[in-house]
Amino acid sequence: MADKNHTIPAKGLLSSNRKNWDCDKSTHFESGRKNHQIKVHDLRERVQARRKSLNDSLEGEVRAFLINEAELHTYDDLTKVNPVTPTTVLKCLQARYSARVFYTHAGCTLVALNPFHPVPHLYSLDVMKEYHTAPKPQEFKPHIFIVAEEAYRNVQGQIEPINQSLVVSGESGAGKTWTSRCLMKYYATVAASSQSCQDTVDRIEKRVLDSNPIMEAFGNACTLRNNNSSRFGKYIQLQLNRSQLLVGASVQTYLLEKTRVAFQATNERNFHIFYQMMKGATEQQRQEWRMPHDQRFNWLPNADKTLEEDCFEDTLEAMVHLSIDSEKQAQIFRILAGLLHLGNVAFSPPTDESQPCDLEEASKVFLSTTSELLRIPVEELQSCLRVRALKAGRQSALLKPCSQAECGVRRDCLAKVIYAQLFDWMVSFINKSMCADNSSWCNFIGLLDVYGFECFHNNNLEQLCINYANEKLQQHFVGHYLKAQQEEYVSEGLKWSFVKYQDNQGCLDLIEGSPTSIFSLLNEVCRLNRASDAKQVMARLEKELSGNDRVSWDKFSQQPHFIVSHYAGKVSYQIEGMMEKNKDPVPPELIRLLQQSEDPLMHSMFVDIDAEGVTARGHNKVVTVVSKFKNSLESLMKILHDTTPHYTRCIKPNPDCRPLTFKKEEVITQLEACGIVETINISAAGFPIRIPYASFLQRYGLITHARAPAQLTSLNGFESGDKDSLGSAVMDVLRVVLRRHTAYPQLHSDTTTHSSL
Ligand code: ADP
Ligand code: MG
Repeated sequence: MADKNHTIPAKGLLSSNRKNWDCDKSTHFESGRKNHQIKVHDLRERVQARRKSLNDSLEGEVRAFLINEAELHTYDDLTKVNPVTPTTVLKCLQARYSARVFYTHAGCTLVALNPFHPVPHLYSLDVMKEYHTAPKPQEFKPHIFIVAEEAYRNVQGQIEPINQSLVVSGESGAGKTWTSRCLMKYYATVAASSQSCQDTVDRIEKRVLDSNPIMEAFGNACTLRNNNSSRFGKYIQLQLNRSQLLVGASVQTYLLEKTRVAFQATNERNFHIFYQMMKGATEQQRQEWRMPHDQRFNWLPNADKTLEEDCFEDTLEAMVHLSIDSEKQAQIFRILAGLLHLGNVAFSPPTDESQPCDLEEASKVFLSTTSELLRIPVEELQSCLRVRALKAGRQSALLKPCSQAECGVRRDCLAKVIYAQLFDWMVSFINKSMCADNSSWCNFIGLLDVYGFECFHNNNLEQLCINYANEKLQQHFVGHYLKAQQEEYVSEGLKWSFVKYQDNQGCLDLIEGSPTSIFSLLNEVCRLNRASDAKQVMARLEKELSGNDRVSWDKFSQQPHFIVSHYAGKVSYQIEGMMEKNKDPVPPELIRLLQQSEDPLMHSMFVDIDAEGVTARGHNKVVTVVSKFKNSLESLMKILHDTTPHYTRCIKPNPDCRPLTFKKEEVITQLEACGIVETINISAAGFPIRIPYASFLQRYGLITHARAPAQLTSLNGFESGDKDSLGSAVMDVLRVVLRRHTAYPQLHSDTTTHSSL
């Protein structure tokens, strides 16, 4: 019989733990040495039996030892949840979300759960000031303002100033743009100048903030995933002077989804600005833009849907603050109205096949209005849309009528090139208006708001570029995270011996490497400019990339495709249409037409473009979409490498944007896609469990026969030859805990394990 004084009554355990421990209220665990060994032996057998079963049940076993579920919501840092596993992390986030706690640290990353409803008290001026003035803001509850403040303090640097980057990632609708805006407001508040020079600086802060509504009006749209989805990536540098005051900003954009101007998927919309014009125009503007109330435009679907983003006044007001005067505004809106009319132009096949397509009767007026608004000659516009100029060698161009489908492609191409140029013009105007001159600023804080990892039913070149960017960012993040961990271990006096981890360099080599990669092969096909049959391209990729285990093919699929194993999962990319998107050809005659425009803005947008260079067939001039994207991403990575990064991962708790609704499957997929699970894996390759020695001893000391020497101060101490004195029972507990190394075999094979328990 066990001595009652040496037993732990199970009724003292939480019911969830009782379930995990397989006991009821009357069970007593015996802690006398002899009996204890029997129990531990039982336990070991149980653990071994369970090890054969699913990972999840093992999670449960470990949880029984280390997690008090009722307290889960109090964990401010996911790396402190013991053990750190995808399951426990998910439970912790869920518990916090239910308790309306939206921010949680994950080591050097901040996880932000989207509340999907306004939480004004969380972002008030007073809260900003509290975080800004606190001696140690990191001791406050997790918040985006901690990240903001840390970067702000870091920028000063102890020896010399260090530029900072705040990388905000997550899937569409997760809250990236919201978070970036919030960060900008924070800096516009805490880095605002003193009252004495309020006039000038106030203007700068306002300009910086006012760049948002304009960029969003032109670059955001309502999609199935987010009513205000950014259709471009953005890196904004907030420029600070020596006194750490905000004196200017500059913005760089990436990969605008220009196809949206001429094509909107079912239940999606065009860019907000078109709806703003349609809803907010004055009567005089309506006349000028030929936009009566009842006019229907093909490129303006779902116009009855009312969104708060449809506010034209906000955009106009922001334009005024950014010095876009009324004359420029008029030019901008005239061009946009011209595009809407262009969208209503349709062609029908000619009666005589040798002749160009006919313009549909109803389209005639739209074509002439387009030419009027864009200030280009109507005959030339019509001929450019219907007739192709073929240049053969040195001969003068041969004219060939386009098919009905080709006419549509040329019309869409015209709209896309105009919209993309207008967007770029707008960005450079905003930059001129916000940017401080070089002598007046010395450091910057950069905010990166980029599209997250994407895996749809159909994935094409856009997804390949986006996922490639995410691979790059993930590589940067992992490198940074490991460095931070290493520093932590060194400061704890712990030995660090693992150097290898799940590296995604292989995937990057597959996509962008040389001499042979997906990008190089796509570019080669585009350069040769042969009619690129998707099946042939697939055969070529298969031949050249065979043996690379990061790429595969589904033998049963009818469609030409390739599957890339990204760090966040496998994505199948369709090859059909990819070559054309990569080439992104604009017929030279369209460019020449736009160069003739009598509209000063339109003229200035195209005057410096080499019409031949845009399509230049078979010449080196061809700069493909992937090459351009790769170059811009490389410049971005260089900036990130030269700055201290801070990562915020935004999570969308449910797909329907419903307030306070947490869907586990959604969240775990995102934790995987944004690399949190990968971070956990890396952490498992180091010391996955981090318990201060004193708490460990207090909790488990009673199942050992001996007390550990007082000089042990961390788990590291167990490796220093004192483990016998802690007793085999504690070791058993630790072994169970450390089974995590076997739960992640892919890491294990890449890792030199340092734990020698
Ligand atoms: P993303 O840029 O990641 O696609 P957004 O930043 O546009 O997503 O966020 C989508 C929507 O979610 C926003 O329009 C807003 O309504 C809501 N939202 C995001 N973050 C917050 C927050 N912290 N508090 C309240 N609502 C938020
Ligand atoms: Mg966004």
